[in-house]
Amino acid sequence: MKILSVNAGSSSLKFQLFEMPEEKVIASGKIERIGLPASIITVKTNGEKRCKEKNVHDHAEAVQELLALLLDLKIVASLDEIKGVGHRVVHGGEKFSDSVLITDEVIAEIDKLSELAPLHNPANLIGIQAFKQVLPNAKQVAVFDTAFHQTMPIESYLYPTPYSWYEKYGIRRYGFHGTSHKYVSERAYKLLGKGPEGTKLITIHLGNGASVTAIKDGKSIETSMGFTPLAGLMMGTRSGDVDPSILPFAMQKENCTFEEALNALNYESGLKGISLISSDMRDILKGVNEGNRQCILAFNLYVKRVCDYIGQYYILLGGCDALVFTAGIGENSGQTRQAIIDRLGVLEIRLDAEANQVMGQECVVSTSDSKIKVLVIPTNEELVIARDTLRLIS
Ligand code: AMP
Repeated sequence: MKILSVNAGSSSLKFQLFEMPEEKVIASGKIERIGLPASIITVKTNGEKRCKEKNVHDHAEAVQELLALLLDLKIVASLDEIKGVGHRVVHGGEKFSDSVLITDEVIAEIDKLSELAPLHNPANLIGIQAFKQVLPNAKQVAVFDTAFHQTMPIESYLYPTPYSWYEKYGIRRYGFHGTSHKYVSERAYKLLGKGPEGTKLITIHLGNGASVTAIKDGKSIETSMGFTPLAGLMMGTRSGDVDPSILPFAMQKENCTFEEALNALNYESGLKGISLISSDMRDILKGVNEGNRQCILAFNLYVKRVCDYIGQYYILLGGCDALVFTAGIGENSGQTRQAIIDRLGVLEIRLDAEANQVMGQECVVSTSDSKIKVLVIPTNEELVIARDTLRLIS
């Protein structure tokens, strides 16, 4: 059975087409610059990449283009072969603790939750509506970034703000990247040869966005992102946790609006803000290795913040069986992993220097005498979406 896994943004749509239950990727690709002149459509199949430029006015047209390409390239013989479409939806609030089949009620709920994720949920909904229109016979499933973290206990998700803010407006920690933390934790149990029961994991997703999660008995018990994905670790362009009083102070000093100050925390901070050159860890590491002072500062700040969370979650979990590194930096940068482990000296973790050279492959990178195992596990959110879609439409 063919299942499409979809990630719709405000001007882009990324997809992977799976043959399920074999979990084989038949095609993947993206449509960028939707609604702008010269949209770019890219499809990869059988190791071959094809690009096309065309004006694509909206998401419905983007979906039509994509499906026409799948037919043209004979990736599918008929659109009826696509039995399910799974959508990444960023915010599921307190309503969704698992993926769901999309109905009109679910659409209305996702729409209501747009208030909590104004940049993401509306774009996700546009993708859902577009597929509903173009593939009316395929069943659609929503897979939420927040769902995996709905198991957090109240002490982990409640902020010490007026309780009425939580009751009236849902102001609390939700956490994000849930699909990624869930996927790598499930792979970790396989690699460790243990079930989730009694196993304590700290999963460390270090990409452009970054978050850490404490997982006990297969359940998220705390995660570093919060009410929004701005909280927690220092990221590519996001500051992570800062004192909220910085905002009005910076607004006054910089003579800027609230929106401009918040944009500075979202888009001009993190690695970019401190290094003064780039949000991309590869550029930062190049700078570090060349002795660039700002890059060294950015890197050290980044590493310290990751370690702060690992230390906190080690205590929260009452120990830890394995640290799991994932996403662009976590999967590919041995130098970053090494710097993090070096700073956690008190935990007596030992990295195997040779194994730690690994890039983008599942691997145990700690030595056999390490007190805590260290794993590198490439994330695969698209596969989780396809699996959940298959489970819910079968
Ligand atoms: P993601 O959001 O998961 O795609 O991750 C993007 C981040 O991963 C960027 O900061 C990249 O610089 C970083 N990244 C990708 N490959 C490498 C690499 N080989 N070494 C260091 N960082 C990398």
